[in-house]
Amino acid sequence: MSERNLLMIPGPIEFEPSVLRALGEKTRSHLDPVFMKAYGRAIKRLREVFQAPSAQPFVVAGSGTLAMEMAVANLVQQGDKALVVNSGYFSDRIGAMLERHGAAVTHLRADPGALPTADEVEVALASGGFKVMTVTHVDTSTAVLAPVKELAAAAKKHGVLVVVDGVCSVGGEALEMDAWGVDVAFTASQKALGTPPGLAVLVAGPRALAAWKARTKPVASMYLDFAEWLPIHEAYEAEKPAYFATPPVNLIMALDVSLGHLVEEGIGARVQRHEKFAGAMWAAWEALGLTPLPKSHAISAHTLSALYYPGKVDAALVKAVGAEGVVIAGGLHPQLKTKYFRVGHMGAVTKSDLVTTVSAIERGLKACGHPVELGRGVAALG
Ligand code: PMP
Repeated sequence: MSERNLLMIPGPIEFEPSVLRALGEKTRSHLDPVFMKAYGRAIKRLREVFQAPSAQPFVVAGSGTLAMEMAVANLVQQGDKALVVNSGYFSDRIGAMLERHGAAVTHLRADPGALPTADEVEVALASGGFKVMTVTHVDTSTAVLAPVKELAAAAKKHGVLVVVDGVCSVGGEALEMDAWGVDVAFTASQKALGTPPGLAVLVAGPRALAAWKARTKPVASMYLDFAEWLPIHEAYEAEKPAYFATPPVNLIMALDVSLGHLVEEGIGARVQRHEKFAGAMWAAWEALGLTPLPKSHAISAHTLSALYYPGKVDAALVKAVGAEGVVIAGGLHPQLKTKYFRVGHMGAVTKSDLVTTVSAIERGLKACGHPVELGRGVAALG
């Protein structure tokens, strides 16, 4: 099978050749001045991407799940109360993690494709005593986009720390950490940041760092403890040598390159591009009669689409689209897994990628016996 297929799952995504070249370069010492400079620059660039001038970024070897656990391990200790604004699979995951770290967790749940209402969140927050509230900015299992700005404002009124899982949002959706009062946000390299899998990226604001400093018990995990990583990140930012655990040198070199593209495009322009492309994809889905999981555009992510299989079509569609040269993903939400599929459209994605993908989906639908007018979705892309 050809290696020249198009990867359109919600992460990992297609990466810029310049990013892949950085990954393939000779591995330098983690104390090489060139590496120290790149690491330090990546840390600074992350403040720009997360729009968090007063916050501390952390970049460590691991996936998004490690970033989730880093947030939880540092902020929570036995008996703390946590509120999970639950929009699907990844909200369940952070809830389970919070429990493992000793928190008493309250989930505010909604049907797949929906979100708990602002009133429900307000009532829960007012019931008092929560130390943290977690929000999954884009739940990759449902493509539901949470209104982080409003939710963070509500939490702030009650003095509750706001943790945002931005794994499927950062670099694609609007997120203004400082301005919105988000205390911790995290992501992983393989999504809209546009770097191959392997980096957990977390940004902690001043209130989060103060809460960590005020802990009465040490963080149980050494690898996740801010105390281990803070001096390392401060040193690299000052281009000074430091060691706690060997950094994934090539991945960080590649991250620096992809963040360079991101800041060059401008975070605002990047978000607008995602909105424009998502709008084009929504028009294509509508033209093809495909129904999205999110119940309205207002709560639809711009980084991916989740769509019900139409008529008698089932997961065979994913294979049929694959046979057309485009890799898409099946369902993930446990309640609906077999009933829908997902298409990523984030990061370095181009207009021609969208055309190719919609065309492959049309042809896949046809191969699955679904009546479809070839070209109808592509025309609707605009
Ligand atoms: N949170 C969200 C919203 C995600 O989409 C993912 C990955 N799809 C994760 C967390 C976990 O990230 P990883 O698979 O890199 O561990």
